[in-house]
Formats: sequence, C-alpha cells, structure tokens
Amino acid sequence: MPETQVFSVNPQSPNTECIQIAADVLHKGGLVAFPTETVYGLGANALDSAAVARIFVAKGRPVSDPIIVHLHDPSQLSLVARDVPDLAHDLVHRFWPGPLTLVLRRSPDISPNVSAGMDTVAVRIPNHAIPLELFRVADLPVAAPSANRFARPSATTAAHVFEDLSGRIDVILDGGAAVIGLESTILDLTRTPPAVLRPGGIALETLRALIPDLEVISKHLRPEDEGIQAPGMLYKHYSPRAELLLFAGSLDLVVPAMQSSARQLVETGRRIGILAPNAEQRYFVGIPAQIFQLGDDLSEISHNLFTGMRELDAAGVDSILVHGFEQSGLGIALWDRLLRAAEGRVIWC
Ligand code: AMP
Ligand code: MG
Repeated sequence: MPETQVFSVNPQSPNTECIQIAADVLHKGGLVAFPTETVYGLGANALDSAAVARIFVAKGRPVSDPIIVHLHDPSQLSLVARDVPDLAHDLVHRFWPGPLTLVLRRSPDISPNVSAGMDTVAVRIPNHAIPLELFRVADLPVAAPSANRFARPSATTAAHVFEDLSGRIDVILDGGAAVIGLESTILDLTRTPPAVLRPGGIALETLRALIPDLEVISKHLRPEDEGIQAPGMLYKHYSPRAELLLFAGSLDLVVPAMQSSARQLVETGRRIGILAPNAEQRYFVGIPAQIFQLGDDLSEISHNLFTGMRELDAAGVDSILVHGFEQSGLGIALWDRLLRAAEGRVIWC
C-alpha cells in the first residue's frame, strides 16, 4: 500500500516542483489524482497496462468499465486514436480543452485494458492548468477515471479523494474544488449517427445544433443489458451510502410529497437529509432534518451535488430526499446522476 502524498498546488500557476514529482510517479507506473474542471481524476500512464490495472484495483472498479484517456494537446490524438473523422476535428477545435469526451477507434499503442478490451477509446483534454501542466511535463497520454471508490459520488475536492483513496494511490494534487462538479459529456463518434452515451458538462442542445441527427442512448443501462455501449454505466452509481429518495413532478406537488415523506421517516426513527436549492429551504423549516443547501441555479446545484451527498453521509443520515430539476442544459446531466444514485427508483408526484 503506498503512502499517499498530498500537495497543495496553485490552480492558476502550478508549482513546478510538485508537477515534476507527480510526472515522475506517472512514469514509474504510479497513480496521481488531480483536479479537472469537471471532477477530480485518478491518472495513470495510458501506455502502461500494469499502471492502468492499478487504477481498477485502487478504485475497486470492474475491469469491464473503460477509462477516459486525457491529453494536453490535440496533436496527441493520432497517438491514441485511428481513423479520426472530420467531425471529431471540428468538435476538438470547438470544445477542447473542455468537458466533452469523444469515443473514437483505439490506436494499438493504447493499452487494451484502458478500453476494457474494446476497439474504441474515449478521449478528452481537460480545461484545467494542473492536469495540462502535468501531462505536458510527463509527455504522456493519461488514463483517468473519476477519483472516487467505484459507485461512490465522484470526488469534487481533494478531501473527497483522500476520503476514498488514501493509502491506495501515490499522489493527490490539491487544486481546490472542481468548478463544474459533474463529469464530461461522452459522445460516441464510432456510431452512425453519433450518440451521446452520458450527458455532462456540454449540453445536449449545444451538440444537437452541430449534429442534427444526434442520438442519446439510454443513460440508465442496467448490468443485465447485454451489448451495452458504455459498459461502465451500471445502474447504481454516484451513490451516497444513505438511501436516496428521488422525487419528480411539478414543484407544487413535489414539495408536499417531500414534506410528508420526511415527517413519516422521522416518525419511524430514521435520520433524514434533504438536498434542496436555497430558495426551497423554507419548505422544510420545522422538520428535524439535516438540510444541505445546493445553491441557486443549475450550475451551482451541479457544483454542489456530490459534496452534498458526501456531507449528508458524513452526518450519518439514513435517507436523503431530493427532487429532479428542469430537463435542459446541466439539468439533464443532473437527472442522470440523481436517477442512478437512486438506483432508478423515482417517486412521481
Ligand atoms: P469515469 O469513471 O467517471 O471517468 O467514467 C468514464 C466512463 O466513460 C465509463 O464509465 C464509460 O461509461 C465511459 N467510457 C470510457 N471509455 C469508453 C469507450 N471506449 N466507449 C464507451 N464508453 C466509454
Ligand atoms: Mg466515475
């Protein structure tokens, strides 16, 4: 078991010495966690299959769940992918660095275990100075899933990474909280028409404007669904330890349903937590619950969601009540994460 070293790194101007230490760890086949604009990533040299194998062990992640390869420059695309279509170059030009992951044909240089044996590879350039500088100094493509134990809420701060992976990885670069707080949008360009496999930081509406025949493949795949396009998309994911109760419908029906459910649970002796936007705190006054304030708008709610799940877990609640948000922009990615954290169960109001 490695002792995990944590370095505090300035996210605007990363400290050269820390970056060099982390780059050396990658070259030696070790594991480095770093912030990105979406969530924290757990990186290994994508050209070293033994290093990549360590990611699966550290996270407790099934080897059937492929990993995204991260680059620092679009010129590295030819190293990781082959037969790159023109559309990919257009999208790279427009969205990289940024929260859009492209699924392309895998180059033989990339370890097959990165892609769970498939002949495709998922790839992106993160929009964050720390990983960009780390990858540039290491001069490697870096395989990096989210830096959390498998099926747990993604890590959006270095403290979350430490909580899940301390003693299992070599280095954590602490660059403060991830800004977006939800993972990248995954777009599969090996399919015709192209298909979104996971909604995320780039809105579906934005992609649809460029790709009118864009498909969105069921985001809520179950393990028993055979031939799945994104094998990592098991049904239960992003979950707090507490049971998550997901309410949906119009707010005038959702609020009374949440209030009465909360009261009933309290009466049966359960400790409850509520994830609620700031403007909705007032609906729960007088109910003995731990309330986590999600923020005012969809970007604040996205930024705070995983932290909220982890904080309510730390407070020892048994059940967490939350409702879905509007189905546009980041609201679609939020719904995907909430639905999977709730294991697909929705309380429609
Ligand atoms: P994360 O662990 O949060 O970075 O999740 C990465 C996700 O990307 C996985 O769970 C997969 O669903 C998806 N993914 C990675 N590589 C591929 C690929 N080659 N084809 C399809 N989906 C992929
Ligand atoms: Mg993940």
